[in-house]
Amino acid sequence: MYPPKGNRDLIKEINRSLVLNLIKSQGPISRKDLASLSNLSPATISGITADFIASDLVHEMGEGESTGGRRPILLRLNHQAGFVVGVKLMERTIISALTDLDAQVLYHRVTELPVAQLLSDGPVKPEVVLPVLIQAIEQTIVESAVVRNRVLGIGIGLAGLIDNQRKTCLYSPFFGWRNIEVAEPLSTHFNLPVYLENDVNTLTIAEKWFGYGHDIDHFLVITVGRGIGVGIVVNGQFYRGAIGGAGEFGHITLASDGPLCACGKRGCLEAMASDPAVVRQAKAAIALGERTTLAKMDPLTIESIVAAAEKGDKLARKLLADSGHWLGIGVATLINILNPQLVIVGGEGVLAGAWRFDPMRQAIKAHTFNGLADDLDIIIEPSGDEAWARGAACVVLGELFKSPVDKREEIRLRAVRI
Ligand SMILES: [Zn+2]
Repeated sequence: MYPPKGNRDLIKEINRSLVLNLIKSQGPISRKDLASLSNLSPATISGITADFIASDLVHEMGEGESTGGRRPILLRLNHQAGFVVGVKLMERTIISALTDLDAQVLYHRVTELPVAQLLSDGPVKPEVVLPVLIQAIEQTIVESAVVRNRVLGIGIGLAGLIDNQRKTCLYSPFFGWRNIEVAEPLSTHFNLPVYLENDVNTLTIAEKWFGYGHDIDHFLVITVGRGIGVGIVVNGQFYRGAIGGAGEFGHITLASDGPLCACGKRGCLEAMASDPAVVRQAKAAIALGERTTLAKMDPLTIESIVAAAEKGDKLARKLLADSGHWLGIGVATLINILNPQLVIVGGEGVLAGAWRFDPMRQAIKAHTFNGLADDLDIIIEPSGDEAWARGAACVVLGELFKSPVDKREEIRLRAVRI
């Protein structure tokens, strides 16, 4: 049955998006295979791919395996047809990266925020941060030397409570911001779409589109470092919660009389197992006179604690193991609630390696409900600052490759013959 005429343009867009996604995920691919995978007619495929080639989005290449007769020409996505900028806005620095359509980082830079102005009393003024952010993005584009009109969008990752639809920061613990429009001034300056997303969510979106979460319907991305968070994908959909606050995993209570957390409550997972928590525990043990090589280290950091653990320091090993244990208890709870197929662990805290994550794995095994951890994959992913910026870039790429239907969040992508 023909759809109403008003839907024709949308259907065309859906089919174009479907074909583009097939070329991206299955390419190099022949037109014949595109037709059979998409259920579209050869004439429709021919028209759509001709448009893509004319706009340099798709390249023809070599010849594929012949199944008898002439060998087919293969099509592949031109990864350099467009570029996006991803930014991680942090407490003191801005990490920005430029990627191609395949999420490969081609250039990245670190820009310092004006610390003197940040340290003044009260919330940090957006008027201080936003011009530096704009300048950092400008320099990223200029220094990467890509053709400017091929930059298709900008993604910003920021810790805190983010309303990604209104592109507003509802609450930033770093800057003390409440209800600050971050994307709008950037969008006006660059005349490009700008997306704002919680930083943990950016890593999760990156895993879903370009990483281990591709084709996985139920997975979690746990981030460990200065804070602890989780990004949640259930039924193939990214889960945000009612006001975008899902994933404040670091603030589940493990001991109601435990140490004070930055959020003002006691005994949060973050207050017991984050990198700053481990450093704090080390300082407390040193103050109590415990024998450890950490006593001589100044400044005492998570890096120095990991180095001491490598060299056999008992306290360093115990503190990292405790942190992994509490983390594992928390992750086991998430597994019991959500039953994921895959857990990916990222964030700067992964540098603690097996000292932290072997105990985490043991605690997960010990505390998950019967059978839920049996077929579960746990991947510890090395992650630097650049990975966060790449994550923010993937938010833009995800939007570019999303079907128009998914953008409307109505029904799942399905090809319709026209
Ligand atoms: Zn807390």
